[in-house]
Amino acid sequence: MKGAAFVIALLAACLQQASPPAKVSATVETDPVPNDGDAADDPAIWVHPDDPSRSTVIGTDKQGGLAVYALDGKEIQYLKGAVNNVDLRYGFRLGGKSVDLVTATDVRNGRIAVYRVDPSTGKLEPAAGREIRPSVPIYGSCMYRSAKSGRYFAIVASYSGDVEWWELFDDGRGKVEGRRVRAEKFPSTVEGCVADDELGFLYVGEESAGIWKFGAEPDDRARPVLVDRTGEGGRLTADVEGLALYCAPGGTGYLLASSQGNDSFVAYRREGKNEYVMTFKIEAGGGVDGVGDTDGIEVVSTGLGERFPKGLFVAQDGDNDRGNQNFKLVPWERIAGAGERPLKVEPGWNPRKVR
Ligand code: CA
Ligand code: CA
Ligand code: CA
Ligand code: CA
Repeated sequence: MKGAAFVIALLAACLQQASPPAKVSATVETDPVPNDGDAADDPAIWVHPDDPSRSTVIGTDKQGGLAVYALDGKEIQYLKGAVNNVDLRYGFRLGGKSVDLVTATDVRNGRIAVYRVDPSTGKLEPAAGREIRPSVPIYGSCMYRSAKSGRYFAIVASYSGDVEWWELFDDGRGKVEGRRVRAEKFPSTVEGCVADDELGFLYVGEESAGIWKFGAEPDDRARPVLVDRTGEGGRLTADVEGLALYCAPGGTGYLLASSQGNDSFVAYRREGKNEYVMTFKIEAGGGVDGVGDTDGIEVVSTGLGERFPKGLFVAQDGDNDRGNQNFKLVPWERIAGAGERPLKVEPGWNPRKVR
């Protein structure tokens, strides 16, 4: 009996391994970026403080600039200056006011671009004082707000495998200044990253190898742990690209990853040892083409009005059917209901209240 039970368990494990990816489709796509070729890269989602339907998607065009889109996909701003990755955090004290801060990696000029969001328009305004220039060849980036200290960081990942923490602060004249407070090194190129402000973890994608997890605090010295790997024994197919965090109460939710090599997305539990949850693909549907060769992704659990009442997942599309690359927007409930077991849906989550 023992032997039979073992065989059944093994078969079940094999079947689970082989279960095909779930399929969803997008409901909205953004305007294409102005530049052709591999240009669109990474999104961020800004949640409006009072009217969630006026939230925006901020998307990078690594050949030329940074775009802001309304939730119907229409471009409302395009700032020149090629940037690769973008992220944001709420409630940064600047010039005596609370502002929403956006940082992006200006790869060509080797600097961290800094903006603030004008909440009345959703548009971005430059906010950097002195140029913030990491010494490593910057590529990816994300932000971290420490629940422990209330301090804000732009974390940059580089072609050389280096990761640097830059603490951001008011320079005394209402502009943002930065100082390097920590550095780590991985064997090869790192790009996508995401920080869990509440639980104090940083996840970094080593493109050819997998997803690393370690403490996000500047003084944390614990060794990184591999959450998942590319190739045999892993759920990822290189390159590992964007990483994003779906937050639910009690430190639960999901870590999402762009598995570029097989045009799919992988979900893990946010809590504990980041157990594998599901794999999904975004296929054509409702007049919006499918998504492939994805670089950056982003997700919010917050309900964003009529179009995305139960949260929003955004993915860069490497091959847009109508024009240059763009970003595809998928209502979270489609992803939550697509797998064998339903995922959490927490539209009441307020990212501004994470403290
Ligand atoms: Ca690409
Ligand atoms: Ca991003
Ligand atoms: Ca990459
Ligand atoms: Ca496509």
